[in-house]
Formats: sequence, C-alpha cells, structure tokens
Amino acid sequence: MSTLLERDRRVVWHPYAAPEARPLFGVESAQGVRLRLEDGRELVDGMSSWWSAIHGYRHPRIEAALEDQLHRLPHVMFGGLTHESAVRICERLVALSPEGLERVFLSDSGSVAVEVAIKMALQFWQSKGRAKKRRLLTIRGGYHGDTFGAMSVCDPVTGMHGLFEGNLATNLFAERPVCRFEDACEDADIADLAGLLEKHRDELAAVILEPIVQGAGGMWFYSPDYLTRVRTLCDEAGVLLIADEIATGFGRTGRFFACEHAGITPDLLCVGKALTGGTLTLAATLTTGEVSAALAEGEAGVFMHGPTFMGSALACAAANASLDLLEEGIWREQVSAIGDQLRVELEACRSMPAVADVRVLGAIGVVELHEPVDLSIVQPEFVEQGIWIRPFGALVYTMPPYLIESDDLSLITRGIREVVSRIG
Ligand SMILES: *Cc1c(COP(=O)(O)O)cnc(C)c1O
Repeated sequence: MSTLLERDRRVVWHPYAAPEARPLFGVESAQGVRLRLEDGRELVDGMSSWWSAIHGYRHPRIEAALEDQLHRLPHVMFGGLTHESAVRICERLVALSPEGLERVFLSDSGSVAVEVAIKMALQFWQSKGRAKKRRLLTIRGGYHGDTFGAMSVCDPVTGMHGLFEGNLATNLFAERPVCRFEDACEDADIADLAGLLEKHRDELAAVILEPIVQGAGGMWFYSPDYLTRVRTLCDEAGVLLIADEIATGFGRTGRFFACEHAGITPDLLCVGKALTGGTLTLAATLTTGEVSAALAEGEAGVFMHGPTFMGSALACAAANASLDLLEEGIWREQVSAIGDQLRVELEACRSMPAVADVRVLGAIGVVELHEPVDLSIVQPEFVEQGIWIRPFGALVYTMPPYLIESDDLSLITRGIREVVSRIG
C-alpha cells in the first residue's frame, strides 16, 4: 500500500512547488498550537498556517459556532438572498475598521479581495468620467496575491513578472521605504513615490500597498510616518489608496489594523487570512461611502463582481466567532508579550555569521539571512527541533498563534537559533 506522501506526490500540487513536492510532511490532526504528524511527532506551530490560525487549532468557541451554523444554513447563494451571519460580519468589520469605511464586499480569498479593490478603483474613475485613470502605483517588495491583477502589483522580481510578460498589466513601482518602523520618514525616503504620483497622476487610479508590514515580499516593517505621508500625497494627487491588510489585520502588528499605527483611513481596505481564525476561507474588501456612491452612479450602476461562494454562511459564522474572541481584548497582551519574548530570545541570532538582520513587530519575529536557505536541508531540521517554521528565500520568520504559552514560544525560538546557527 502506498503511503500518504507517495500518493500525494503522484497527483497533488503544493503552493509554489514542483509537481512532486519535497520535503513534505503528513499532518494527522491539530490542537491548540500543536500539529500532530502522521508518524506521531508533534510540532509547535510557528506559522499560524500563514497568519491565519490566530486562536490556534480547533478553538472550542469557533467549533461551536460552525456546528450551529452547519445545522441551520451552511451556505446559500448571495444573489438576491442574505442571512444573519453575513450581515453581522459586515456590520462588525465596518465598526472595527478605520473611520470612514462603510460598506463591505465579501469574497473567498485574499487575492480576490485585492482584485475586487482594484476593480472598484477602476470603476470609481470610470464613474467620475476619468476613464484614463486606470494604472496602479505600488512599492517594491510587496505581495498582494497570485491572480493576474494582484500579481501585477507584487514585487516584479520576487513575483517573477518576466514569466508572464504580455499578460500582466504594466503598473508603476516606487522604491520600497527604507525608513524602519521606529524611524521618522525623511523626504528622501518617499521622494520616488512622490515623484511617480505627481508625474502619473492623470493615469493613476490607486496606490496599493501593505500598511506597515510588507509580508511575503520581504517581511519588512516600515515607518508609520511613511504611510501617513502616502495618504496625504494620494489626496493631493487625486489618487485612491488601497490598504492590503490581508496579513496585518486582526491584531498581528500590535494594532487591530496596521493602518492605526499611522491613524489613516484608506479608500479601500482588504482583509482575509485571520478573518475566520484560520478555519475557512473568507476575505473582504471595505470601501468608503464616496467610492460606493460613485459606483452606484456610474454607467454600470452596479459593481461588476460576484463569487459563487460569496458570503459563505459557515465562513461568516467562523469569522463572527473569531471576532468575539478578539473583542474580549486579551489579544493585546498576548501579542505584546509574544513580541517582548521574541525580541529577547531571537537577539542571539544577530551575531551569527549567516544572519543579516533580526527584527520584531507585534507578534512577528524575523531573522533575515544573507543567502536564501535550502529548504530541503532546513525544513527537516526544524521538524527535528519539534517546531513548524517555513522559511522563504532568505527569511526565517515566525508569527505564532496569539494564545501560545511562553514555554512553547521558547521551543520555537530555541529551534530557530539552533537551525540558523548551523547555516553558513
Ligand atoms: C496572503 C496575502 C494575499 C493573498 O491572499 P490569498 O488568500 O492567498 O489569496 C494578499 N495580500 C497579502 C498582503 C497577503 O499576505
């Protein structure tokens, strides 16, 4: 009989992987902050399943909400029909997001939430009789998803734009902000973006960026001051601002939304990942009253998008349960305690030969190396250490579930120190 891994390698694709993914580990179950492998080994999860499982796995409150929803209404089409769980999650997102965001479009993944935001920005300018405004400006080092519109604003190098040349919209890229989170933003730090905005204002629909934390494009934390200035520059140039909070939303950076570090309201805001606490896929795009009013007045009179599984009742129920947990407020102390502990326990990495930089923000710890890691070597080493850490490129990073206990977090940091110390 073939093993799970053998069967997998015959027919399954994995993210950003060759057809026969290696190394690969079978997961049998998960509970709290632990993944249980097929062979009985247990790993402390340092990744929250890519930012999403903020309450750990199988949280009883989320399970109860799912069970209740499952027995009443798992899903119903959202065209012409509505239901309590969807209305409630939209009301709550509006209440929790920066002042001025008033209407919510639900979708099924982060990439689609970004597509929706881009489409809304284009339809907005159409409605205003400014149809030439249809390009986007972003900063290098960004990541916004894998569909074509989203890909066109990912970092052109790490996003391998060359592969898809001719099929991708040609957007504009400003230098990434060099000013760190702790620093002020000098005029020089934003000169490139300011120049591009000024030069191309008549053809620009929107600036799109990840506020404060650039995630998969480089795990880079930049100055809130920079973001404040981007908001002002967009207003001056008459260009919309799209904030992609798919990774940063729901407390990960120490604020509920990363935009709060700068006190700004974007014209469009995308959320996803942790929205359901990592149980089901759900994403959303929030807009201001001004944007939604303009769409209603435009030629189409409607917003031209509508996923089949829009407003999935099960996903919305999970999201409401996750927000219930967040609204109890314990996440604030948890995120800040994780950050403090990561700062202390990852510091020893800084002097290791392979390490270029160590940085921590909120409940995110990053060890940046000089050279990309060889996953075929380091992935099994992390598993040997009893932790689940999935580096990409030269970045070894962790963003554990908020409820992780200090001893378990120490297992993660000790494992990272041990594996990184053997590199280079
Ligand atoms: C993960 C991510 C996306 C894409 O979300 P998917 O659910 O994978 O489609 C978009 N933007 C950011 C900032 C992300 O981290």
